[in-house]
Amino acid sequence: MTREEYALALLRSCYGYDSFRGNQWDIISHTLDGGDSIVLMPTGGGKSLCYQIPGLMSDDGFAIVISPLLALMNDQIDALQQNGVPALALNSEKTDSENRQTVDLLMQGKVKLLYISPEKLLSEIDRWSSAITDRICLFAVDEAHCISQWGHDFRPEYTQLGTLKQRFPKVPVMALTATADRITRDDIATQLNIPGARLFISSFDRPNISLNVVQGSSGRQKFRQIVQFINLHRDESGIIYCLRRKDTEKMATELTRLGISAQPFHAGMSVELKQQVQRDFINDDVKVVCATIAFGMGIDKSNVRYVIHSNMPRNIESYYQEIGRAGRDGMPAEALMFYSYGDVVTLQQFAQQSGQVQINMDKLRRMQQYAESGVCRRRMLLSYFNERFDHDCHNCDVCNNPPERFDGTKLAQMALSAIKRTNEQAGMYTVTDILRGWRKAEIVEKGYDQLKTFGVGRDFTVAEWNAYLLQMLQMGLFDVAYDENNHLKITDYGSEVLYGRKAIELNRYERRDIKARKQPTETPVLRDSPTPVKQMDKALFDKLKDLRKALATASHIAPYMVFSDKSLQAMATEKPTTQAEFGILYGVGQVKCQKYWHPFTAVIREHLSHR
Ligand code: ADP
Ligand code: ZN
Repeated sequence: MTREEYALALLRSCYGYDSFRGNQWDIISHTLDGGDSIVLMPTGGGKSLCYQIPGLMSDDGFAIVISPLLALMNDQIDALQQNGVPALALNSEKTDSENRQTVDLLMQGKVKLLYISPEKLLSEIDRWSSAITDRICLFAVDEAHCISQWGHDFRPEYTQLGTLKQRFPKVPVMALTATADRITRDDIATQLNIPGARLFISSFDRPNISLNVVQGSSGRQKFRQIVQFINLHRDESGIIYCLRRKDTEKMATELTRLGISAQPFHAGMSVELKQQVQRDFINDDVKVVCATIAFGMGIDKSNVRYVIHSNMPRNIESYYQEIGRAGRDGMPAEALMFYSYGDVVTLQQFAQQSGQVQINMDKLRRMQQYAESGVCRRRMLLSYFNERFDHDCHNCDVCNNPPERFDGTKLAQMALSAIKRTNEQAGMYTVTDILRGWRKAEIVEKGYDQLKTFGVGRDFTVAEWNAYLLQMLQMGLFDVAYDENNHLKITDYGSEVLYGRKAIELNRYERRDIKARKQPTETPVLRDSPTPVKQMDKALFDKLKDLRKALATASHIAPYMVFSDKSLQAMATEKPTTQAEFGILYGVGQVKCQKYWHPFTAVIREHLSHR
């Protein structure tokens, strides 16, 4: 058996997968040859197999996995143990006797993967005898960007890891991260003392995540659209990101009132409460978590089916990381982002107050361009990450529903003229009210109801004006003076349009109804399933999901650790009734086959007998 055949056999028997994805095998074989590496892969791309397989392949050795988050460590170990892989953790949460036992098992060569925090590793490794250190076959540094001050999540305890290469020059080091920028990447190599490390960059595309943006909605309308969306995904798990803590609470309360199972999550909550919410979410007991950006870091939950941004995020990096928490199992998932003028104002203020005004404003501008995109959104995202992607994705709202362009010169002139007649002393909302002819107190007080432009735009709704004014802002027809109560100021370009010297085009605003996702069977072929699948039986899928939940509860693990949604889909499609048929399905390794073929095939047989 060649090395690759052996690796593939392990992949099948431990994980139930038939082939490596992307450059996984190149990374593994480079490591087996003793090479250092830097691995850049998006969240959900399949980083863990890259270091787990070398650990498993080593005869009596083991791989050390350095990871900053205890929760993530425990999660991975639970998942590995489900697959019968001997993985253990050494950390401060464990008792001394548990940790001693782990060290004994290491001595006996009975552990294949050791998860450990950086500070624990550096304090332990000096105490280990050569019987242990000689067995180390790999140092895998997960979330490696934490070592760099340039990364977004610097952790001082990571900086000592550079000594590992000096002390164990022969042991390969693999640094893994989902953060792609060059400065961070170079810094990782320097800090870890692996200047010759080979760089492996995977595609950052996540084709199963559909990308959607809704423009102009705010307040109740936005809330209604969110509820509409959730109702179409009733028994699925999702995350709603909000800008502020109080928004997460309000959202969760209102959803709960409508009978939707939702909880808030933010940094101001107690540790216990946060852990509880996280656990309930992982166990599918809470369906929707309304969170600030703090949520999602420490969880691996593979069956998050959607991520909603109720406000535009501050930059594309954050956006991409957050939507990446959806659909880790490779099944269809959705990203839905709301984008309104209010968001732009708030985010510009954040950026202005930040330490790095220029960078943050630039990043925000790129985010806005994404939100306004008239071309395939995936193209735009991937080009942001310097990746070539030369076709339309057919899985974003622009591809599926290309915006209609029209001559927007007259519309822009109405708006610009209104701005001009206020002497540039009004903000976007007031300008909208003037255009729509709303005789509210503030307008009358200032005499705006006497303006020639008062009410000229009443044929358009507030949402339409919101969307068009945003486009005009984005095009540079006017600026928002952040230091002057957000009043709108016409630019030179805007003047040219106002006086008819230049024409502009706009994207027609369309009230988007929130539509149901296509059923999995209709979706185009995904990377892991080259042949089109047979019809999936939805009723059976739901029964299998119930069984999964019951089995998970009984053994105190998360449902997705029993099987992923993708495995359940395979079962509900192939409908195996014997152990042999069950054992070849996606995600069914040897241990899980033994353990689960009986209850699952029983449900399938029972289901088939009722047809
Ligand atoms: P990352 O750590 O990069 O975020 P993971 O390692 O958690 O991603 O992998 C994401 C998902 O893809 C997991 O459910 C994993 O089991 C699955 N996966 C990884 N590699 C493969 C493969 N070769 N074939 C099928 N599924 C895979
Ligand atoms: Zn597209």
